[in-house]
Amino acid sequence: MIIRVRRIAAVCALGTALTALAACSAPQPVRAPRATAGPAVASASPAAGPPTLAPGPAGLTPVFEHGPRTGDRAVALTFDADMTADQGPRAARGERFDNPGLIAALRELKVPATVFMTGRWAEQYPRQARSLGRDPLFEIANHSYSHYAFTEDCYGLPTVDEERMRTDVERAYAAFREAGVPDPMPYFRFPGGCHDTRALRALTPAGVTAVQWDVVSGDAFATDAGAVAREVLDGVRPGSVVVLHCTLSAAPTTERVVREVVPELRGKGFRFVKVSELIGASGGRR
Ligand SMILES: [Zn+2]
Repeated sequence: MIIRVRRIAAVCALGTALTALAACSAPQPVRAPRATAGPAVASASPAAGPPTLAPGPAGLTPVFEHGPRTGDRAVALTFDADMTADQGPRAARGERFDNPGLIAALRELKVPATVFMTGRWAEQYPRQARSLGRDPLFEIANHSYSHYAFTEDCYGLPTVDEERMRTDVERAYAAFREAGVPDPMPYFRFPGGCHDTRALRALTPAGVTAVQWDVVSGDAFATDAGAVAREVLDGVRPGSVVVLHCTLSAAPTTERVVREVVPELRGKGFRFVKVSELIGASGGRR
């Protein structure tokens, strides 16, 4: 199986002292994703969960990159709420890993969006995590607890040991619950997008669908909002998944990018959807 790792500007490589991941207490049972790795089957329950893709070959965690390239011009803007496990001291000194202006813009423009949140971010900004999680405009998905890499050589990020991969994902769900996020989605975005067969196998028991993207906005560390907006506008096709960031310190132009691209794309007939809608349209089953 060929795993394509697409270019992504690293939000990660902000030289961090390698504080060891604090000892994890045993996570609570994961509620959001399926607990087993069997083939996705339709549930008889009226409270069926969000759509997920069936596992890949040999039961590997399935990987989603974009929705159908149909005439229905749906596009999903996704926002990674990055915060690495050892960035707490920088947040304490006033560095902003959140971006309230961006969230306000999405609400003002009525743009549904999927936020891939790290557990560490939810711990740092629990009121915002809860507010996002309770707002039907948004869905919260998992971007790991620590924002450590799941492969070697991933933009200089520290790496998670294979035996810790699943617990890192589950620890993020525990942080979401602690913050009051009611129904996080069973979707996982690898930090930096970096993954391989070993990582996909390690996460099989977590029951998540891995979500990549087909459009890189390049908003990380960008200073020219217009250039980022052009990347998005040039890249978007029907069914696209666009990766952006919800981390002011590392992606300061994203609110301006959103304010520029949203009316442009709507003018071209695009409508904004959450990732779950694209997965559902791609044969994902509840
Ligand atoms: Zn990230």
